[in-house]
Amino acid sequence: MSSSAGRGLVLVAEDEAAIAELAAMYLTRDGFGVHIESDGLAALAAVRRLRPVAVVLDIGLSGMDGIEICKTMRTDGDWTPVLFVTARDDELDRLLGLEIGADDYLTKPFSPRELAARVRTVLRRSAGSLPPAETYSAGGTRVDVIRRRVWAGEAEIALTSTEFDLLAHLLRRPGQVFTREQLLSSVWGYSASAGTRTVDVHIAQLRAKLGDESPLRTVRGIGYSADGG
Ligand code: CA
Repeated sequence: MSSSAGRGLVLVAEDEAAIAELAAMYLTRDGFGVHIESDGLAALAAVRRLRPVAVVLDIGLSGMDGIEICKTMRTDGDWTPVLFVTARDDELDRLLGLEIGADDYLTKPFSPRELAARVRTVLRRSAGSLPPAETYSAGGTRVDVIRRRVWAGEAEIALTSTEFDLLAHLLRRPGQVFTREQLLSSVWGYSASAGTRTVDVHIAQLRAKLGDESPLRTVRGIGYSADGG
């Protein structure tokens, strides 16, 4: 189930359908769009694809648990507010023992009204409090992976989401040469058999946009790298 509304999209990752639907009902009433996932891996994919304004994350999920999802988001540079939902004290102990940027948590059973109120609170709290910039540069190109902004020299450049992810992946590891298969797997999440031509196309688009400031280097017979510096 997915809908969009004025206050932005909230992703609800919860495998108990009754709880998810009740949460969705109250969030919708509050003016949020809601997207529900019941599996952990699907939830992480949805976070990356839909870029919700907040995530309600059940800890006990199949595929990948809520704590791992949040850790992965933070490693990705994604600081979207996360409200954890837990059914068990031992899950809560584990959560509180980690510094993974949990914005708040609720223990089951909770009232859906309370959940909607907490989502509003984490959003208010996080407004205007992005973590410091995390930038990488090579040649004359610079990316801020937290704010997803890119500059070629002094000029800010607009990239598609995939172009950005590809460029950031290369700039994070300057000088390292990646095969097309590795890039497909890391950036697109495809298996190597999906066809590597798409990597070449995106590299060409990046070069066109970055112009003289492009740090992208073709390593003949192997793949691509970003020049260091
Ligand atoms: Ca669960």
